Amino acid sequence: MLKRSVKTMALVVLSSLFISSQGCANESKDEWITLGTMAGPIPNAVNSQPANAMIVNGNTYVVDAGDGTAGQLAKAGLSLKGVKAVFISHLHFDHTGGLPAILGLRWQTNTFSDLTVYGPPGTKATVEGIFQFMRIGTEGGYGVPGQVGKPANTNVHVVELGDGDTVTNDDFSVTAIRNTHYSWPENSEEWKKYIALSYKFDVDGASVVYTGDTGESKALIALAKNADLLVSEMMDIDHTIDLVVKANPNMPEQVALGMRKHLSNHHVTPQQVGEMATQANVKKLVVTHMSPALLKPEHYEKYTSAVAEHYDGDVTLAKDLDRFPIGK
Ligand SMILES: [Zn+2]
Ligand SMILES: [Zn+2]
Repeated sequence: MLKRSVKTMALVVLSSLFISSQGCANESKDEWITLGTMAGPIPNAVNSQPANAMIVNGNTYVVDAGDGTAGQLAKAGLSLKGVKAVFISHLHFDHTGGLPAILGLRWQTNTFSDLTVYGPPGTKATVEGIFQFMRIGTEGGYGVPGQVGKPANTNVHVVELGDGDTVTNDDFSVTAIRNTHYSWPENSEEWKKYIALSYKFDVDGASVVYTGDTGESKALIALAKNADLLVSEMMDIDHTIDLVVKANPNMPEQVALGMRKHLSNHHVTPQQVGEMATQANVKKLVVTHMSPALLKPEHYEKYTSAVAEHYDGDVTLAKDLDRFPIGK
């Protein structure tokens, strides 16, 4: 396992204190908000794509930024100015689709506070690509002759993380590990290049572990050991395959089989989520990344019971904009 430590500069707090509609930063408590709880890639009318906000000392940290993240932040009463960093678990588009909107809206609203985007290798190229996508729009600006705007990438920083990396800022330490969402042969070129990460945030004596997308992983269980809060993905594989096949009736059987293999190896079932929470001895389990079109209360009850068969602790199947306290 690659071990190295990445130190970031202390973040400037005063310039970007989070102001919510409820009041100012020092009145707020640390919490985890599930902004978008639906797995991609099929959008639906009820729930947004994978995204979370972690609030620490009034600052907002976005953890995965699926399509709709900017709108979900607004619904949660969180301003773009308050977003200090974005942590991307992996570069599947249902986890990154909201990033162009965040970066574009910063420019449109003259929000140039420091923002760091953390993610696996490839995040730098991805963010550069987003700025390339914005180039003509920002050059044309608002069409006012003589108007000179700041470049869109002003004060946007990118830090790529690998297996075992730890970053510390004023609000928490975060450790990234490689999980099993990808199954490249070890030490292959792809294995080095394409990594899916899980994160552990150590926040003022409490620990929050976010699985990102992953299959079963011993390294993840070790990371989550005795965590106060485990936010885990979950996949109902049969349900998802049914949906995909219905949406693509001409899909060759081989392709559908390949997709089933990917989903089985690279995601966790309700049973596996419960087992992971038990093995890691976590205090609270929040399940997110629900199968597309899982919309009815009975679905939530069914999966909650399936997880609870394997985990005796406190479990919640999250809905969009649910809030979970962080801390002792
Ligand atoms: Zn996903
Ligand atoms: Zn994924």
